This record gives sequence, structure tokens and C-alpha cells, in this order.
Amino acid sequence: MGTLVGPVLSAFTTSKDRPLFPSPTASLPSSKPHLTTSRKIHHHEINTSRFGNFLHLKPESKPGCLDSDLPWFNPSDRPCFDVIIIGTGPGGLQLAEQVSQYGIKVCCVDPSPLSFWPNNYGVWVDEFESLGLVECLDKIWPMTCVYIDDHKTKYLDRPYGRVSRKILKTKLLENCVSNSVKFHKAKVWQVKHEEFESTIQCDDGSELKASLIVDASGFNSSFVEYDKPRNYGYQIAHGILAEVDSHPFDLDKMVLMDWRDSHLGNEPYFRVNNSKLATFLYAMPFDSNLIFLEETSPVSRPVLSYSEIKRRMEARLRHLGIRVRRVIEDEKCLIPMGGPLPRIPQNVMAIGGISRVVHPSTGYMVAQTMALAPLVAEAIAECLGSTRMIRGKPLYHKVWNGLWPIERRLSREFCCFGMETLLKLDLVGTRNFFEAFFDLDPYYWHGFLSSRLSLHELASFSLSLFGHASNSSRLDIMSKCPVPLVRMLGNLALQVI
Ligand SMILES: Cc1cc2nc3c(=O)[nH]c(=O)nc-3n(C[C@H](O)[C@H](O)[C@H](O)COP(=O)(O)OP(=O)(O)OC[C@H]3O[C@@H](n4cnc5c(N)ncnc54)[C@H](O)[C@@H]3O)c2cc1C
Repeated sequence: MGTLVGPVLSAFTTSKDRPLFPSPTASLPSSKPHLTTSRKIHHHEINTSRFGNFLHLKPESKPGCLDSDLPWFNPSDRPCFDVIIIGTGPGGLQLAEQVSQYGIKVCCVDPSPLSFWPNNYGVWVDEFESLGLVECLDKIWPMTCVYIDDHKTKYLDRPYGRVSRKILKTKLLENCVSNSVKFHKAKVWQVKHEEFESTIQCDDGSELKASLIVDASGFNSSFVEYDKPRNYGYQIAHGILAEVDSHPFDLDKMVLMDWRDSHLGNEPYFRVNNSKLATFLYAMPFDSNLIFLEETSPVSRPVLSYSEIKRRMEARLRHLGIRVRRVIEDEKCLIPMGGPLPRIPQNVMAIGGISRVVHPSTGYMVAQTMALAPLVAEAIAECLGSTRMIRGKPLYHKVWNGLWPIERRLSREFCCFGMETLLKLDLVGTRNFFEAFFDLDPYYWHGFLSSRLSLHELASFSLSLFGHASNSSRLDIMSKCPVPLVRMLGNLALQVI
């Protein structure tokens, strides 16, 4: 198996030879997305939306599979590996690629290892540049903007990119294949542990053994244990990649957040709710007729209802004069934010969503996981690499502390405080907060959003944010956040002990 390139690159098509993601996923950064399908769609055939109401439109594409082959685990082979990774999302595949570089025997288990990733991932371009992954972006916007309200807009000189799921997954799979990673198509039911070895039991009846099991099966996994109540906040969003008649956004600016609420002028019920628990629009304009739109609740506890998000989005699109002709893809986003880390250490290692690498204040995770996987791989290699054979408890201790060393745990505590603060703010408070946030020295706001600030820098960042905040914002933070502040200080103290 060395020739994965051709089959994989041509694989994002359905069995009917129709491009699965007919537009931007197929293009490189500079190329313009196109909406051609194998059959021309005549205007009278298009099931267009009533003005602004896109909710009755069915998404035309469902994530399909790569039409390719992988080096599969053969049941007649010895079912023993150094590392088994459960899940081939971005987290699992990146770790598989990194660990296998050390000559460590890896098997990835997933019910559908060749499936397309379903989510639409956005990242800051500098994050992917520093990872050497910029060619995995299929669209780059040179600037981003934040609509604070109807009168104030911030233009941010920080390019933003959309990840090509096809290119990134292809690249990771190719590297895994050339590093002799095996794949097994099954769902893992159970993990059992002995002193130096663990066994996974799969839904096809197979049992595979390894010195280390890594759970990369996403936020909902049950293989990783927690010893504290999981008091998550939730980011919830509804997104569509849509063909529209037109939209009002500049093509060279990605809309990071649109906090305007004038669309709710004739919707008193939603306006009141939105003023307490606000949602914003996140938009990636690809061309004048193609756009990704996502109405997003940044964080709520309990979670805001999904139907309310969709109704607010409907009102917003109507107000912006966006008539949706076709929904090409849709996504329901529900990301648990903040909350405790898993018990550290434990005999199942974790990466990706279940390892709580997700940024507690933003819900972003992809770039951070890509950056941390090499560190986890290095820790694994120090134990299971060619010269050493450290297994059992010392291995678990080493790898968990490779992912979550004390400094990173402390910084995360700080970002959890950021989430708790956001949870307390109403629309006015949220607008004031982001106005002050994006006024900061870019070193701080870039660093905060990309989890790059040390604990010391996070403290300076907070002071600077407080200094930039309006008086009402300062009052808001002081009156609404003493409990989260005390909790954060308590947690910081516990981590240090
Ligand atoms: C809709 C949405 C949009 C997001 N957008 C962004 C974004 O723009 N930027 C960003 O940085 N982050 C984003 N995130 C957050 C995060 O980056 C994603 O959730 C990311 O997909 C997590 O990657 P993962 O590898 O941990 O898990 P997943 O991508 O969820 O992959 C898990 C894999 O494990 C497999 N699996 C599950 N159970 C089992 C089992 N029992 N046995 C074997 N295999 C199993 C699944 O089939 C799947 O392939 C988004 C999240 C969502 C939900």
C-alpha cells in the first residue's frame, strides 16, 4: 500500500460520480469555488426558500466515503499493537501519523475510517502556517470582522482559513499508510486492562491488544473516566453551506461574529431572549452566491434550544435579504466547553475532543490538537519506542502529563474562567466585552484565542482587558463574576498542590 494519493484525491465523490462537496472543498486557496454539478439545475426545478426561510430545504450532500483502500488489520494476523487509537477524526489521525513516525506499531479503529469528516472547520491561518499545514486550507480570507452592533464594526488584520477536510484527511491518511499504520473497520464496545496490556472488544467480535489505548472517539466517549462532576457549558450552533441569490458581506472578510440584533425588531419574544442569551452569526463568504452561515450560541448552561437558534437564524437571514436557493450541507454543532479534565493519569489515554483540548472560551480545537499531538507522540515514543519498553502505570503517567503538564492545566483553568464570565454576560455585556477584547494588543487576543499565552501572560492579558473595558463592563465583571473567580483561584491552588 503506497499509492493512496490518486484514489484518495479522487474519492470525494458519490457513487453517482457527482461531486460530493461540489464547491469549495474541492478547490485550493486561490481557486474560486464553483457550484457545477454533473446535471445542470434549471431554475424552475430549484426548491428555493421563501424569503429568508431556508429551514424546509433539505441538505443536498451527505458526508460520503473515500473511494479508496487502506492497509486493513487482518484477523489472521497477530492482534497485538503498541498503540490502538479509537477514532479517525482529526485528533486520532494526527496522533496516529505522529506516533507511527517513531516506528511504533499503530492500529486505528473506526466504524468508517474512510468517511469524510462532517464538520466545517475554521482556523486562524497563522496557526496552520506554524504547523506547516497551510496547504490544507481551501479558502483564506485576508481579514476578519466583528459586528459589535449596528454602528460599530471591528476589522481584524488576522487572516482566517477554512480547512479542506479532503486535503487534510488525505494527507494524514497517506502519512499513516507510509508509516505502516493498520486500520480496522469496527466500533469499539469495551476496553479491558491488565497490568501492561489492554484489550479492545469490537462490535464485529474482534479483540485487539496493545500496550496503550488512545481514545480519540470525540466528545461523547465513555472510555475515559472523570472523577469530578462535568459541569460543562455548551456551544450550540446551526450551520449551512448555501447557494444564495446574494448576500451583503465582503468577499475578502470572514465574519467571525455578527452581534447585531436589528433582525429581531419584529420578534419581541426572540429579542428579549436574545438580549439575555445572545447568539451571533458566523459567516464564510466564498463568492457572491455561495456562503457558509452559522448562527451560534457561544456558550450556555443549560444549553439553548436548537429550534430557537434556527428561528433566530431565519429572522436574521430574512433581515439581511439573504434568500437561500439551495442548502448544500448543514451541520448541528454541540460542543461541551470547560468543565473538569479527565482523571489524570488513567489507563486509557485521550486526544481530541474527549481529552478536553477544546478551548473553553471559544470551542475551537483543531489547530490546538494538531499542535499537541506531536508532544503526546514524543511521550509515547519515550516509553514504547525502539530503545525503551516502559508500560503500565509509568507509561500512563508520562503520556497524560505530556498532554496536560501542570502549566497547561493552569492556563486552561484561566480560560475556563473566561467561559464562566461569558456565561454571565447579557447581550450588552457581551458586546462591551468583545469590543474591549479586540482592542487589545494583537499579541494578547491572538495568543488567547490560539491558547498560546503562558499563565503569566494570561494574567497580564486580564489586567489589560480590564484596563480597556468600559466602566459598565468593569462593573459587570466585578459584580457578576466573583464566584467563578473564587472557583478559578481554588482550582488553581488545587492543581498546584
Ligand atoms: C459541528 C462542529 C463544528 C466545529 N467546528 C470547529 C471549527 O471550526 N474549528 C475548530 O477548531 N473546532 C471545531 N469544532 C470542535 C472540534 O474541533 C471537532 O469536534 C473535532 O471534530 C473533534 O475531533 P476529534 O478527532 O476529537 O473527534 P471527531 O471528529 O468527533 O471524530 C471521532 C471519530 O471517532 C469515531 N468513533 C466514535 N465512537 C467510536 C467507537 N466506539 N469506536 C470506534 N470509533 C469511534 C467516529 O466515527 C469519528 O470518526 C467543531 C465541532 C463541531 C461538532
